Amino acid sequence: MKQKTTAFFKDEFNDLDEKGYTWTIRRLAGPSKPHVTVDGKKCIMLASNNYLNLANHPNLRKAAIDAVKKYGAGAGSDWSIAGTMDVHQQLFDRIAEFKNTEAAVTFQTGFAVNAGVIPQLAGKGDILISDELNHGSIIDGVRLTKTDRAIYGHSNMGELEKVLKEASKKDYRRAIVITDGVFSMDGDIAKMDEIYKLAHEYGALTYVDDAHGEGVLGNGYGIGKEFDLEKEIDFQMGTFSKAFGGFGGMFAGSEYTVKYAWNTARSWLLSAAFPPHVAAINLAAMDVVEKEPERVKKLWDNAKYFKKEIESLGFDTGYSQTPIIPAIVGDSKKAQTLANMMYDEGIFALAIVFPMVARDKARIRNQMNAGMTREDLDTILRVYEKLGKKLDLI
Ligand SMILES: *Cc1c(COP(=O)(O)O)cnc(C)c1O
Repeated sequence: MKQKTTAFFKDEFNDLDEKGYTWTIRRLAGPSKPHVTVDGKKCIMLASNNYLNLANHPNLRKAAIDAVKKYGAGAGSDWSIAGTMDVHQQLFDRIAEFKNTEAAVTFQTGFAVNAGVIPQLAGKGDILISDELNHGSIIDGVRLTKTDRAIYGHSNMGELEKVLKEASKKDYRRAIVITDGVFSMDGDIAKMDEIYKLAHEYGALTYVDDAHGEGVLGNGYGIGKEFDLEKEIDFQMGTFSKAFGGFGGMFAGSEYTVKYAWNTARSWLLSAAFPPHVAAINLAAMDVVEKEPERVKKLWDNAKYFKKEIESLGFDTGYSQTPIIPAIVGDSKKAQTLANMMYDEGIFALAIVFPMVARDKARIRNQMNAGMTREDLDTILRVYEKLGKKLDLI
């Protein structure tokens, strides 16, 4: 062995850093909301997934405090052994009701759902068919199987059909088409109606990752409701960590699909239940989405206004159809520079660069929030106008 200490990681890190692939951790002082203090500077938040502004909602806070009083701090065990409390079971049942599926279960995170469940849904003699822009947790889940795999071009239904046609000629036991519901870098929506139709036609099953769609699409109920396919989509996963303002992954489907999933996914079997107050927060979040429908409406009003105005300044927003609205800059360095200059102006936004997006499609990802006022949006737009001119982008 040549490397007897970890000293080489310094070189490896510096190498990553030179390529611009490293992250700097930014620290918020206080709750996540539209106005935050980031590393000591007051900013308007444009980079959080807190679409409905629920992360600091009084009902969610109160649910957490009450649950700590009733259930204590931790769950004390794995989901499978002694960590599942009645408040967790209430959450499973409530998700099934909310998603209009037969059953549901939760995992620590959405990542743990995809990485843990996908490998159990297919094996030798099966095929998984995945959109090229699917989330990294899906990619990891798919890599953990011995099953055949195929990737189709992003939302390219012609390619999907070709893959399905090829697959139908071979004697596969089952085929599963896997897609993000809302794609997180472009903010476009999967063509779920066409995907379902094609899958159905060729005898394949469908798996959708609704992480950026829950709380946003279908009046907050997610992609199933949006396309009226709640019962038809075979496997639905999602997370409470985005629009719902809470934490934890979920998996929903038919009774036996869900039972099978938690009985086989190692990320569920061998890992602790999330704390009971997290379950209580998530329950409260679904209630608020139903009781305060004006939040979803405000989120979309903000998204429509911002998209229209930033386009009229001359920015390209790509394929955005949701509250994720990129401002495409092109060059990676320029996107980083713009994000840094925005921060100096009191706007916290994330630059997304290669390898997350194509080399010439670097961008600022603007994520809308139901708690933003028209004044906030106008402030952001003025900064875009000023810096866009300065950097020769518009
Ligand atoms: C955020 C995200 C996840 C992971 O969810 P967590 O609960 O944060 O682990 C999975 N899939 C997609 C598409 C996501 O955007």
